[in-house]
Amino acid sequence: MSDAQDEIFCCDSLKGVVAELPEPAAPTVYRADNGVTMMVVGLVRTEEGLGYLDQAILHCPFCGTKLQAAKP
Ligand SMILES: [Zn+2]
Repeated sequence: MSDAQDEIFCCDSLKGVVAELPEPAAPTVYRADNGVTMMVVGLVRTEEGLGYLDQAILHCPFCGTKLQAAKP
């Protein structure tokens, strides 16, 4: 049995940031429709609501594990 959500957590630190951040920051780490793992790095409040600034994660910011290859 495979759990797609667990695949992106290479260490407890990365898993911890997802668990500890409160709404509406979550999900801070998620898998986009194209299969790329993304991390929300900022929030912007606009007249139309809350906007997310996100970025693809290529390496884990905590342990350095390569999570995925850069895609053009
Ligand atoms: Zn890690």
